[in-house]
Amino acid sequence: MTNAMEIYQMLPKTNCKKCGKTSCMAFAVALMARELTADDCPPLIEESKYKENYEKISGLFKTSEGATETGLIVHEDLCFGCGNCVVACPVNVANDPYGVGSGKAPSKTEKLILIIEDGIVKAQNVGECRRFGKNKILCNGCIVTCPVEAIEFV
Ligand code: SF4
Ligand code: SF4
Ligand code: SF4
Repeated sequence: MTNAMEIYQMLPKTNCKKCGKTSCMAFAVALMARELTADDCPPLIEESKYKENYEKISGLFKTSEGATETGLIVHEDLCFGCGNCVVACPVNVANDPYGVGSGKAPSKTEKLILIIEDGIVKAQNVGECRRFGKNKILCNGCIVTCPVEAIEFV
C-alpha cells in the first residue's frame, strides 16, 4: 500500500479546499483513511491535466477482490480457527470486557469485529477497526497474532 506523501504528490497541490479539507495533504490523509475518494477533489476530476493522476489514485483505492470496504481481507482457506486474532483485537476486547476481554468465550458477539464461526474467522463491523476513520492508528493486533497470515490489509 502507498502512503499519504505519495498520494499528495499526485494531487494538484493548490490547497484550494474545494474538497472540504484545509490542504491537499489533509485530503491525502483522508484518502488513506478511506474517508474520502479521488472523486471528492473537483480539480482532479475536472481538469484534463490531472486525468492520469486521478486514474492512478482511483486504482490504488479500488477495493480488491475479497476485501471489505476497509481493505481487510480474511483468507478463510488459511484460517484454522485458533482465535488468536479475536482476543488480540483491541476493539473486541473493549466491546466485550467480560467475554473476550477476560480471556473467555465471546459474550457480545454482535459487537465484535473478528469472530469465529464454524471454526473459521469471520469479519464484521469492519468500520470499527482502528485502522480506519478519523483517528486511525496502525493497529496490527490481528495480523501479528495470526500464525498463518490469514489476515491482511490492502
Ligand atoms: S480539492 Fe483537491 S486540489 Fe483542492 S485542496 Fe482538496 S485535494 Fe487539494
Ligand atoms: S487491525 Fe486492530 S482493530 Fe482492526 S481488526 Fe485487527 S486487531 Fe482489530
Ligand atoms: S489468528 Fe489466524 S488462524 Fe487464528 S483464528 Fe485468527 S485468522 Fe484464523
